[in-house]
Amino acid sequence: MTEINKLKIYPLPAFRDNYIWIIHTTVHAVIVDPGDAAPVIDYLESHHLQPIAILITHHHSDHTGGNLQLLERYNLPVYGPLQEKIPTVTHPVREGDRIQLTPLALTFDVLEIPGHTRGHIAYFTATQLRNMLFCGDTLFACGCGRIFEGTPQQMYDSLQKLASLPDDTLVYCTHEYTLGNISFARVAEPGNDELRKLEQQAKKMRQQHLPTLPTDMATEKACNPFLRCQHLEIIHAAEQFTGEKLIDPVEVFTALRKWKNVF
Ligand code: ZN
Ligand code: FE
Repeated sequence: MTEINKLKIYPLPAFRDNYIWIIHTTVHAVIVDPGDAAPVIDYLESHHLQPIAILITHHHSDHTGGNLQLLERYNLPVYGPLQEKIPTVTHPVREGDRIQLTPLALTFDVLEIPGHTRGHIAYFTATQLRNMLFCGDTLFACGCGRIFEGTPQQMYDSLQKLASLPDDTLVYCTHEYTLGNISFARVAEPGNDELRKLEQQAKKMRQQHLPTLPTDMATEKACNPFLRCQHLEIIHAAEQFTGEKLIDPVEVFTALRKWKNVF
């Protein structure tokens, strides 16, 4: 859990490895990607929280499956991608839209980041202390989402767009995939010392059953192979996998993503 000003950002575990992020004060709460309603309701009730909005990043059921039951219980706006037809979304949003969440003193900017799904969006906010990004299944700690609906070029561009956010941005991903991602990253870039340190940290946290998230953008730029397609060691590893010379970063990215799928 992170605490920023008077805000708590709590990772509520769901299913096998999902996190439903609850952003809250002592009174109000915003729920990000509630795949399941039951743990959310438990958390809200035990902390006496009033939910004021749901933010949805993309249409997959492990991110939206709790909406209906939450809407039956609470009267809430549900923000979600305009490009995806999600029946429970009441407020479709797109690139450039701003969402004011006055009770939490937060304003979120909507970023379109297609690739994992065609309409995938992220929510970015700059608080007085830290920048925060809720990016669903696009950027993971040391990895990225699978390309289900978009093209590798789209996913590459989306990741680059996120990587251009400030280095101190805290990154709230929706799955605990970190250790598996690091195992792959270590093979793709064995000479990366930062990555070695990160692996030790992440292992320690998981041994204590703690979430490895949020990560931050500086760490991702230093360790995440999918953001490091210009680095020679990674280019060579990707070329070994494909058996071909790879000319541009998008080709390297495409090879890495294919490789990770079978890793
Ligand atoms: Zn997904
Ligand atoms: Fe997911």
